[in-house]
Formats: sequence, C-alpha cells, structure tokens
Amino acid sequence: MSLIAEKFSQIEPSQTLAITAAAKNMKDQGVDVASFGAGEPDLDTPDFIKRACIEALEEGKTKYTAATGIPELKEAIREKLLLDNNIDYSTKQISVNCGAKHSCYNAILATCDPGDEVIIPAPYWTSYPEMVRLAGAEPYIVETKKSNNWKLTPEEFENALGGATRMVILNTPGNPTGSVYSKEELEALVEVAASEDVIILSDEIYEKLIYNDKKHVSVASLSQEAKDLTITINGFSKVYAMTGWRLGYTAAPQEIADAISIIQSHTTSNPTTFAQYGAVAALKGDQQIIGDMVDEYDMRRQYMLSRLQEISNIEIVEPDGAFYFLVDTTQIGLGSMNLAEKLLSRFKVAAVPGVAFGHDNSIRFSYATGLDVIKTGMDRFQEFCQLH
Ligand SMILES: *Cc1c(COP(=O)(O)O)cnc(C)c1O
Repeated sequence: MSLIAEKFSQIEPSQTLAITAAAKNMKDQGVDVASFGAGEPDLDTPDFIKRACIEALEEGKTKYTAATGIPELKEAIREKLLLDNNIDYSTKQISVNCGAKHSCYNAILATCDPGDEVIIPAPYWTSYPEMVRLAGAEPYIVETKKSNNWKLTPEEFENALGGATRMVILNTPGNPTGSVYSKEELEALVEVAASEDVIILSDEIYEKLIYNDKKHVSVASLSQEAKDLTITINGFSKVYAMTGWRLGYTAAPQEIADAISIIQSHTTSNPTTFAQYGAVAALKGDQQIIGDMVDEYDMRRQYMLSRLQEISNIEIVEPDGAFYFLVDTTQIGLGSMNLAEKLLSRFKVAAVPGVAFGHDNSIRFSYATGLDVIKTGMDRFQEFCQLH
C-alpha cells in the first residue's frame, strides 16, 4: 500500500534544487565548487527594504492581515502595474501571495479542472508542469526552436490547441532561456489565445532584468481582449533580491482574482505581515538599485557570453533577459543529468541539467554569482568541453 496520494505519483522533486544541494554538500566538505546552479540573486536585499521590515516588526505589525495582503501594498502594486506596465487593474483584482511560485500555483488551481490541458512551451521553468499536475490538469509541452530563440510561435501554439486546452503559460523574460518576447510576438500569440478563449498565465518575474535595449511588454497591456484573458504574475524575489521573503503577486480578471482570494484564505492566509511592509518600501523607494543590479548582471552576462562563444562543441542563444545561459550540449551528448553530474564531480562546476526544463540536451548556467566564480567556472567548463 502506498502512503502517498495517487495524484502525487507523477510529481518529480525539483531538480534545480537537487543539484544546488549536491554542490552545497561538496562546498561544506571544503571542495571549491564553481556554482552556477542558483536560481536566485547572489546580491543582498537592499538595506532600505530591510529597514522598513524591521520597523514594521518593532511597530507590532505581527498579526494576520487581509488574506490577499495589506491595502498599502496592493495600492503600491496597482500603481506599479499602471506606471511600469501600462495595465489598469483595481486593487480588488490584485492579490499578494507567498512568492510568485505560489502566485502561479494559485492561478492554475483557480482556473484548471482535471482533464484541462495547459500549454507549456519548452524549455520551461521547472515547476510549471508539476503545478499543473498538482492541480489535476495535464501539461501539454510544446518544444520551441533554438533558431527562434526558444520562443513559442503562433503556428506552434495553434497546432497545440485542442478541445481541452484551458491555458497557456508565457514567461518573458524567460527562465531558463533568457528569451524576451517582442510586442508583435505577444500580439500574435494573444490572437491565437483569443480565438479559443485560452487563459494566458503571464509570468513576468524577470521583467526588469533585461539587456541589449530590449523592452519588457506585459501581455495584459496589449488590449482589453488580452487583459480579459490574462493573469499577470510578478514578484519581488528576482528584481529586488528578496527570494527569502516569499512575496509575489497576481493581477487577474475579477472572477479569477476572487477565486484566488478564496483559495488563499483557506490555505496560506496572508503572506508574512512584516515582509509585506518591506515590499511596500521596495516599490516606493529609489528604483536606481535595480539599475545598479542590472548593470552588474549585464557585465557578467557579456563576459560569460564571450567565454561560451569560444567553446566550439556547444551552442548558445544570447540571452536578452533574466540571469541564465541555456547551453545546448547536443554535440557532447551524454544526457543532461549525466553531464551535470560529471561536470560537478570531476570538474567542480555546478549547473542545472536541462532535463529539469524539458530540454535534455542542455544545461543551465546562472550568472547570479560573482565574476571570480564565473571566471574559474568557465575555465573548468571549457576544459570539460575540450575533453568531450
Ligand atoms: C524564481 C521564479 C519564480 C518564483 O519566484 P518566487 O521566489 O516564488 O517569487 C517564478 N517564475 C520563474 C520563471 C522564476 O524563475
């Protein structure tokens, strides 16, 4: 007899966390590992955000809040979505959740029934398919092409549509690819979605980590039709280096927002009260901190790009956003799990196997790590590639 519910039988543990744990284990034993595994900023949360949280604690902001967050934060998010993203939501359509991961899961739970299909372009963020399965629905994976910068085309989207299609998940800038969709590309996808009333989950967590003069475009800003089908998800983890704070948010058509509010009120209740005050400070404070972080990431990105371009038996697409390189290792072969394990055990380089993103012939390097580590790691990776 299994002690585990049937619905969990197909759920995989997060492989991105597994390799990070193995690397940490080696580090704890004194091995100098060049770690590219992390899906989080190496930089610390800015001080003024921490101070706002500490003040809130000292003022006794230690009790429950409304399930979907404090009014000050929802208002700050409303203004942000209007000014930065050109989307006019009311605060009633906004909920603050326990991380953008939680936002995605709430959104899927609120909208998808057993039997529904959710279209997920691969390479995808590792948690999307498992969240869909947890909600009882079915992931429908669509392989995108490297030649199209790993972006879903309207034709691919259209071919994937079926009677059970309920949702499509878009993530721009994307993890693990760093791809950024243009306005025209998104408009074409919205047109396909609207033809069959497919809900669009738009994960915009890397919105501000964007390079090469690319512009982030929010799906819901494109038209009223787009807004009526779109769940906009964003958060604080990546852009403000606040992963441990566990704060993300959702803005959605009213019906969906109401359902999310109900789900959250019976499960987590509000995100941590004093953390929410830090988030208010993050949105209201000087946004130059983001510019400084982006400059730092961009410098690392360019260095890594030049190093990876020197290696002949791998292929890369230059990422325009987020803080990852997805390295295509088709010529090396091995299978990504095997490759990542070899790279870690013999060359002391930690990277995430592409199988975690639904693309087995690749590995992901995060550049949310110091330049010294990147230099050492690239030397070692180059050696590894030369030997394979
Ligand atoms: C990191 C990440 C998230 C989740 O971030 P939270 O820490 O839960 O706010 C969501 N989507 C993508 C694509 C991510 O990389």
